[in-house]
Amino acid sequence: MVSDAWGRTVTDVRISVTKRCNFACIYCHDEGLGPVARPGAPHGEELTVAEVERLVSTGREFGIRSVKFTGGEPLVRADLEEMIGRAVRQVPDVSLTTNGSMLASRAEGLRDAGLKRVNVSLDSIDPKLFREIRHGALGPVLAGVREALRVGLTPVKLNMVVFRSTVDTIPQMIEHVAGEDGLHLQLIQFMPELVQHDRLAVDLAGVRRWLEEHASRVLVREMHHRRIYLFDGTEVELVDPVRNPEFCANCHRIRITHRGELKGCLNRNDDLIPTRGLNDEQLREAFRRVITLRVPYYGGYVTDLVAGAAAPAADVPRAGGAVTASDGPSS
Ligand code: SAM
Ligand code: SF4
Repeated sequence: MVSDAWGRTVTDVRISVTKRCNFACIYCHDEGLGPVARPGAPHGEELTVAEVERLVSTGREFGIRSVKFTGGEPLVRADLEEMIGRAVRQVPDVSLTTNGSMLASRAEGLRDAGLKRVNVSLDSIDPKLFREIRHGALGPVLAGVREALRVGLTPVKLNMVVFRSTVDTIPQMIEHVAGEDGLHLQLIQFMPELVQHDRLAVDLAGVRRWLEEHASRVLVREMHHRRIYLFDGTEVELVDPVRNPEFCANCHRIRITHRGELKGCLNRNDDLIPTRGLNDEQLREAFRRVITLRVPYYGGYVTDLVAGAAAPAADVPRAGGAVTASDGPSS
């Protein structure tokens, strides 16, 4: 197992299969790769199914145990089902993050191809606010969520970005999802770095306080020590990576761009490693490099690795998926 200077190994990969998207969300970071392209834009540079299969297969040699497809909007790709089918032969745990607008007609086929779970981005259940944020229609997204639940792509995790326009509607969203079997809600902190401004950002302290006070139970996930708030049995999680060294210290993810470059951190593009045209041994070397050279972003761009200024692994909890403790308030 290869690890970086902080003792971090990699266990999952997020593959951006396109830069194209049919929405135009006002906060979109597009995996740090600049503005998304329109759905019909030229896309000859996108990864082929065979390239994805080869990358996943090589990633498995380095400890990759789960794959998440993302974009852009991955469902603009008509061959996504085939891609998933080939990926699951290498790594069975394959999931997808989608804006949900095209999910209803494809959920069953995606499941049949081997997809395990889906994250659907849903910032608001108010059609007007939804359109203001995402420049798309809410109805098809809700239909996509329903269909994903019906065909068993569960848990269906709803991603709600928490920023100026949505922060006051969190209680309404929780009311919407509470008690819904198979649904989880992830409240995702707006990440300002990649969109070059922070005017949309809000302080999450009030949100955390509200969750603590109103959840029926609070659990703590081993990974990142994230707290999980239960509302009528439905899990609500606050994902707050911004300026959070503990988040980075527990990061076990690498990324692959739609052009096949290996990327060590969402927030960095200055160290992309191209893989096209590499033979098998060169591709392994590229994986070795991207894993060993990773730096915890919110520890700063640390060059003196020995100083361990960015929360070395010995000082931080080890990652894991399990919910381990129940210690929160009840109300
Ligand atoms: N198009 C798909 C979607 O919207 O789910 C997948 C790609 S999108 C880049 C992946 C996730 O990142 C979505 O849940 C989206 O809401 C979230 N996201 C995009 N920009 C963000 C930002 N600046 N801060 C926090 N989350 C963001
Ligand atoms: Fe970005 Fe996803 Fe919104 Fe498209 S749907 S603009 S990729 S966040």
